[in-house]
Amino acid sequence: MRPRLPSPLHELRDPRLTALGLRLALKRDDLIHPEVPGNKWRKLKYNLTAAHEQGQRTLLTFGGAYSNHLRATAAAGHALGLATVGVVRGEELAGRPLNPSLAFAVEHGMRLVFVDRATYRAKHTPQVLDRLLAVHGPAYLLPEGGSNEAAVRGCAELPAELGDDFDVVCVAVGTGGTLAGIAAGLPPGRRAIGFAALKGGFLAAEVAELQRRTRGAPTDNWHVEHDFHHGGYARRGPELDTFLADFAARHDFAPEPIYVGKMLFGLFALAERGAFTPGTRLIAVITG
Ligand SMILES: *Cc1c(COP(=O)(O)O)cnc(C)c1O
Repeated sequence: MRPRLPSPLHELRDPRLTALGLRLALKRDDLIHPEVPGNKWRKLKYNLTAAHEQGQRTLLTFGGAYSNHLRATAAAGHALGLATVGVVRGEELAGRPLNPSLAFAVEHGMRLVFVDRATYRAKHTPQVLDRLLAVHGPAYLLPEGGSNEAAVRGCAELPAELGDDFDVVCVAVGTGGTLAGIAAGLPPGRRAIGFAALKGGFLAAEVAELQRRTRGAPTDNWHVEHDFHHGGYARRGPELDTFLADFAARHDFAPEPIYVGKMLFGLFALAERGAFTPGTRLIAVITG
């Protein structure tokens, strides 16, 4: 499981940003590891250490049917010789052909448990957890998306790889652990912007709560943009598709559309709206 760290930082020249006096670099966390890429590697790092220290031989976690976190957990467990159990939202998926994410997880040894939506919503309650542990044995529990204090600590290591030639870090938000960590790790005077990849105004509260649990109090150097989810999680529309096709043609790089594409769309939209003063040096984290 040798990661490529620090991940590369590449200047991206785009005439639309240059015209506004802005600079942008891509932090290529997607290149950290082929099977445990991006923020998933950073979020798992200290969780895997903790599981090892606690003598746990099984990782048990939760995700939707297209979860990158389930995939990454399966691959990490496979590489380290740990059993993995993935609790998947959607009872109706049981017995159906597996989508590529879940097929990958199973090929990497993950045992999938499909639960109905009500059970999934109650997944962090003792009733549901005790039952899962009774059936699948003792396990190290990772919350949905892997976002816990250990994940925040792992992501807080990213800013130290950025040098000091930057002002603003942009990152996509799913469960918020990555933003919580990056913001917590920023040096003074820098800030982070999270771009919500899903609908729901609760994400900022989640990020603040993760920071509170990890370091005692939230930091005041970040905020979440809620206007760029394009209809919700894994949804997209012609506006996003056009932006991404154009971006790929200009830069010979096709961003992952569910999170990274929405973040880049939002970054360019804010730039064109004048949200950044000329001279601002931006970094976009390519989380996967
Ligand atoms: C999981 C994921 C995210 C979301 O990270 P959170 O810490 O849950 O906010 C962002 N980008 C990519 C590519 C991901 O796979």
